[in-house]
Amino acid sequence: SQEARLAERPTGRPDASTWDITTVEVPDPEPGQFLVKVDLISLDPAMRGWLNDVRSYIPPVGVGEVMRAFTSGEVVASQHPDFAVGDAVSGVLGVREYALSDGKGVTKLDLDVAPAATWLGALGMPGMTAYFGLEDVGRAQPGETVLVSAAAGAVGSTVVQLAKAKGCRVIGVAGGPEKVAWLRELGCDEAIDRREGNLVRQVRRAAPDGVDVYFDNVGGELLDAALANLARGARIAICGAIASYNEESLPPGPSRYMSLLVFRATMQGFVVFDYEDRYPEAVAAIARLVDQGQFVATETTLVGGVAGFPEALLGLFDGVNTGKLLLQA
Ligand code: NDP
Repeated sequence: SQEARLAERPTGRPDASTWDITTVEVPDPEPGQFLVKVDLISLDPAMRGWLNDVRSYIPPVGVGEVMRAFTSGEVVASQHPDFAVGDAVSGVLGVREYALSDGKGVTKLDLDVAPAATWLGALGMPGMTAYFGLEDVGRAQPGETVLVSAAAGAVGSTVVQLAKAKGCRVIGVAGGPEKVAWLRELGCDEAIDRREGNLVRQVRRAAPDGVDVYFDNVGGELLDAALANLARGARIAICGAIASYNEESLPPGPSRYMSLLVFRATMQGFVVFDYEDRYPEAVAAIARLVDQGQFVATETTLVGGVAGFPEALLGLFDGVNTGKLLLQA
């Protein structure tokens, strides 16, 4: 079984020296354990943060340890009372082809509701992030203008569709003309190509009356552009800041924080795991929209297996994905 271990902590962009791809024997489950053949490995921006030895909401991956990753797969051997051979499961099993588990943090997947890929995307952690970030942190209301960055990604494309379903006016930001066209198909009222620059002006043109909710996946210049265009009483959900994850020093700015004062606006950070008790509510809401044909669960699945993980992970920072980015194990 191949697995990707952390060889050394990267500074800046991870590269081949960050990872140690090794082959180990496929283990046999002991009583209370089961063996999963991993099919899909979730590629998440948070993975970059897990490589840094800093205090965060979760401890970093240790040097020499198998890289932490959300995965889906099938139980192929079991000595566990609750998991049988053939069960489809998901959980944080790591970047590997075969994983032993005691069941902690592993859930069985109902493949009648959606395929495994969607349980890692719109109905998984990214979908939960979108739902609670929009509902609880952004408190988006029908008729309001919602600006979403990395809008063609896993979290962003879910935010776009949930906000549209609520009756919001939605502005999506993505990289490149194809993604911008896709955002319009998805229902965005306006779509901005971040690669065209002039972000302050582009946001002003798309939201002449100001932005009520900014769902921030990116930070940096886009956050500044949002701050320059707030409506009174705006809320900013600080979901992520992928623009700075590979930077070696702290980013400058955002230079427009005083907008929060001028516009009586709120900016709030959040971590999806705090909403675990309420995941069923979000799954039901998103699955209902899927069922009604009002939602497209979108995934981009890369090939290349565990050996292709180092390269595949960088796809997030190059924006190769539309929807949830996954790796075929
Ligand atoms: P995505 O599917 O959105 O993939 C990342 C996307 O980010 C890329 O496709 C690219 O899209 C965009 N991007 C990459 N680099 C930059 C850059 N330098 N500047 C602007 N955009 C960039 O990933 P996810 O949906 O999984 O995650 C989105 C955000 O949500 C991340 O910041 C992540 O950390 C955060 N997150 C937070 C959680 C929480 O609990 N707070 C939980 C889960 C995710 P494009 O080129 O089209 O702009």
